[in-house]
Amino acid sequence: MIEEYEKAGRIAAEVLAEGKRLAKPGLPLLELAEKLESLIREKGAKPAFPVNLSINDVAAHYTPEYQDKAVICEKDLLKIDVGAQIDGFIGDTAATVDFSGENGKLLEASQLALDAAISSVKAGARTSDIGAEVEAVIKAHGFRPIENLTGHSLAQYNLHAGIDVPNIRTPHSHTLKEGDFLAIEPFATTGAGRVGEGTKVEIYSLLSQRLLRGRESRRLQAHVASNYRTLPFAERWLYPSFKSKLLLNAALRELILSEALHQYPILKEAKGGLVSQAEVTVVVEKDSARVLTK
Ligand code: MN
Ligand code: MN
Repeated sequence: MIEEYEKAGRIAAEVLAEGKRLAKPGLPLLELAEKLESLIREKGAKPAFPVNLSINDVAAHYTPEYQDKAVICEKDLLKIDVGAQIDGFIGDTAATVDFSGENGKLLEASQLALDAAISSVKAGARTSDIGAEVEAVIKAHGFRPIENLTGHSLAQYNLHAGIDVPNIRTPHSHTLKEGDFLAIEPFATTGAGRVGEGTKVEIYSLLSQRLLRGRESRRLQAHVASNYRTLPFAERWLYPSFKSKLLLNAALRELILSEALHQYPILKEAKGGLVSQAEVTVVVEKDSARVLTK
């Protein structure tokens, strides 16, 4: 199992590095996402979730839609968030690219907060203390941590496996133990320090299989269950398996209404502030954390 995590982590890191090299103003987001998702497969893993390409005040959960026309703009602040999985064991890693060259301090805030968090992870460490470290570093840079986004534990085919790694000091806490797998992901912002849900949803995951009426709905549910299990998938991934957008949309609607699917709406900073993110996956060891996405 550790070998699968190590390999998935290494692939996610290599693909993220390639994403940072490829990303340029003028490049279509759809082209970048598809290129990186193919690269994950070429390297012998599968996407653990759709590549997220969240820009400026969008903090997370933006992945291009089918035939998306959006391109990277001159001054965009782009978060590239990559997940790779092998047999459901996940590497999750993200970085921020600043095309304006004006947000170096904001990038540094999330990166140094991540470094501080990694240094304080070990068996017996408390998640609230890690959150406090993240909060202190980001505030010392003059920004706010995003309080309602957190890192998370990982388990097989489970991207959010129960433990939160907060970005602020929290009243509740969890004590880490050796062998816990964690994605740690500080977000820093020039805004209010909270995200709200947008209306757009491009990412879903299967909650549980339901009894469905429509034939296409049943086919969609079976397709998702066999290809992605309980991991997040993009709507655009489904198009090759469906004859028309209309049929697919009707089937998706039935799955949503039947509560078969969890939806991941895009998350935007509450006051429209710029958002930076840095993320790695680690395994908790006796006296330290070992970074797997490198
Ligand atoms: Mn991530
Ligand atoms: Mn994550």
